[in-house]
Amino acid sequence: MILDGKKIAAEIRAELREQIEALRAQGQRVPKLAIVIVGNNPASETYVANKIKACAEVGIEAVRIAYTSDITEQTLLTEIHRLNNDETIDGFIVQLPLPEHIRESVILSAIDYRKDVDGLTPENIGRTVQGMPSIISATPRGIRELLARYQIATAGKHVVVIGRSNIVGKPMAILLMQRAYLSLPNISAASFGDATVTICHSKTQDLAAICRTADIIIVAAGSPGLLTADMVREGAVIIDVGINRVEDISSPHGYKLVGDVDFENVSKKAAYITPVPGGVGPMTIVSLLQNTMQAYTSKQNKSL
Ligand code: NAD
Repeated sequence: MILDGKKIAAEIRAELREQIEALRAQGQRVPKLAIVIVGNNPASETYVANKIKACAEVGIEAVRIAYTSDITEQTLLTEIHRLNNDETIDGFIVQLPLPEHIRESVILSAIDYRKDVDGLTPENIGRTVQGMPSIISATPRGIRELLARYQIATAGKHVVVIGRSNIVGKPMAILLMQRAYLSLPNISAASFGDATVTICHSKTQDLAAICRTADIIIVAAGSPGLLTADMVREGAVIIDVGINRVEDISSPHGYKLVGDVDFENVSKKAAYITPVPGGVGPMTIVSLLQNTMQAYTSKQNKSL
């Protein structure tokens, strides 16, 4: 069965739209997101444009703050402090990657964790590890929501996470191993958490053997065709996070997007599988909107 991220994301956008319309109807201000973009990386431009479009669809106000790639780290830090103190902004993100001369860790650490709707500050990640209220990075949050809405429980399951990045692999593994009751209150459809987690990466030996013992495999490696059918046991759940451009002469662009999974063959064995595109990608974008809503709400009720 296909885990239809596109459809679930549309459902969540409709729910958010309703909540924001209700705020408007009560005469309250709507949530506002700022997106800082540095330089003119074409992939970043596309991601930012998609995020702004998604905000508009649900009624979140979005502002794009663009800087040329020669901005200094200090000037960017000043901008971060300004956004931290701007009462009209509920959350903001700094689109990555940043130019080489700007230290990503310095910039991310400067963001007020209550406005960190990408969930990338050391404070948010530390709070997540400790099971405290936190903002969770968009892709793991989206995967959690997708599993919950398909009522796929993770408790007691062996979950293999391939990839150890700060934005996907690490936070995903942390969430999966947390006690189930630490999950967000709106995740009630299935028990999320309480999984036995194995984290694999580029130095892992015999990835295939480890994957064959998994009930659920989450692949975020950026390596097309990495997960093949012989690595998957019958009835496993497969979440493909990878987004890779591969040459395709039949496409007008000359390329197509594929994940990290050999979808054609793995889908014959999997009980559930996400497609690329249309799986984790749309869930990631809608999770950013949910995080913005969370930042807005927690400002009113001080829940963060
Ligand atoms: P990354 O690119 O920072 O790192 C890749 C990780 O995979 C590393 O930890 C590495 O050790 C591991 N890895 C690479 N090759 C491997 C192999 N052969 N065997 C085992 N492990 C291997 O990770 P990232 O930023 O999490 O991105 C991973 C992929 O997910 C990329 O394709 C990226 O474009 C995609 N992505 C998609 C979304 C989405 O919304 N769908 C969001 C974020 C990232």
